[in-house]
Amino acid sequence: DFVGQFLAKKDYKDIHVSRHLLPFEDHKFLKAADARVMVRGAGVYLWDEHGNKFLDGLSGLWCTALGYGRPELIAAAAAQMETLSYCSQYFNTTNPAIAELSAKLFDLLPSPFSRVLYTNSGSEANDLMIKLVRRFWQLAGKPGKRILIARHNGYHGATIASASLGGMKLMHELSGGMIDDVHHIDEPYRFGLRDAQDETAFGVHAARELEAKILELGADRVGAFVAEPFQGAGGVIFPPASYWPEIQRICTRYDVLLCADEVVGGFGRTGSWFAHEYFGFAPDMMTIAKGLTSGYVPMGGLVLTQRIADTLADCGGTFAHGLTYQGHPLAAAVALATLRLLDDGGIVDMVENDTGPYLQRCLREVLGGHVLVAEIHGAGAVAALQLAYGRHKDQRFSNENMVGLYCMRKALEHGLILRTTAARLIVAPALVATRAEIDELVGKLRL
Ligand code: PLP
Repeated sequence: DFVGQFLAKKDYKDIHVSRHLLPFEDHKFLKAADARVMVRGAGVYLWDEHGNKFLDGLSGLWCTALGYGRPELIAAAAAQMETLSYCSQYFNTTNPAIAELSAKLFDLLPSPFSRVLYTNSGSEANDLMIKLVRRFWQLAGKPGKRILIARHNGYHGATIASASLGGMKLMHELSGGMIDDVHHIDEPYRFGLRDAQDETAFGVHAARELEAKILELGADRVGAFVAEPFQGAGGVIFPPASYWPEIQRICTRYDVLLCADEVVGGFGRTGSWFAHEYFGFAPDMMTIAKGLTSGYVPMGGLVLTQRIADTLADCGGTFAHGLTYQGHPLAAAVALATLRLLDDGGIVDMVENDTGPYLQRCLREVLGGHVLVAEIHGAGAVAALQLAYGRHKDQRFSNENMVGLYCMRKALEHGLILRTTAARLIVAPALVATRAEIDELVGKLRL
């Protein structure tokens, strides 16, 4: 067959390991023989070169919200490429695809949001967020407010600035220090501290770390707090309900911008359109990517509330920023088709009211009592299972990474792709996953 002919001609695995620097790999230990060649995707499934079928429990990298091969997205992309394959937003130029996309986007966004800048990735969007926080405070007459506070174990991307903002140790070591005035507070991760405080008290306590940091650094020097509403790559860590309202109160009190990284949480992942709506807070800026185009083509963005947008647009003279591919019509057409399916096609509604609660219930019913599952976090189409052992399931494994990697490999053997962060198993299936596909996912997890 078509794919088979290709595979006979080239050794993709050798090229893969010998010609690339690969994401988050130790190249010394990479073996071509262990590599996987994926050749096809349809719905929530992928197939490798041997014809093995996998249920993609992570929707790519939390992005293929509509599953693989969705005809509406393919048709939108093809039609756009035939009609207008490139058009910049430079020189006061626009096109129907980008205008329609932004009209639809702002229909879906809560009203304080008023302008968007498109990027090609979540990392770029977070870079831009840092830049515009500082620019905003310059224009607002408080140029001293340069510091950004983020969280340990947060992930905001891989570019110099976004990785500096992130609190993942190795990434931060590679980029940290290249951007000045970034500080971190602890993540609201309560596992292991459960006896110390009840959940509500823990949420408030964790949020007050931000207040303590602002007071330590001086409110006149702190420009923004940046965080994922729930940490995705950090392990799908859902803070207690008391956390975000307290963070919001603190940011308002000290005039610190509240910036949400919605790259993973946005576009229906929790069953709410945006994760900040799920947690009940209102950011001043938010970054988006991934689900915006269902991962079919690269696109991200930074969305600004009116106060920020007006200051940047009206007070600063020429806005000296632009990208060649900002608002690319191909990405715009695919994003528009994605949003139409999520909204008019009722997919976010389905995750909120049917398949999301179903996934959460099945995970808890089938795996909540497992001898190694200590807690389950999540909402809608995203969840994490914390593995631990002992009579009270409160003993953490000494080598959590090995436990996680073992589970990931075992899951693959059973035809399930998932992700692990230390000893937390993470699932985030496509938003279109049916109840039957969710049953299959949970069944494979139990094996
Ligand atoms: N922000 C969050 C929360 C992410 O999870 C990611 C990627 O996983 C990013 C930002 C970076 O996005 P990208 O990989 O598109 O640059």
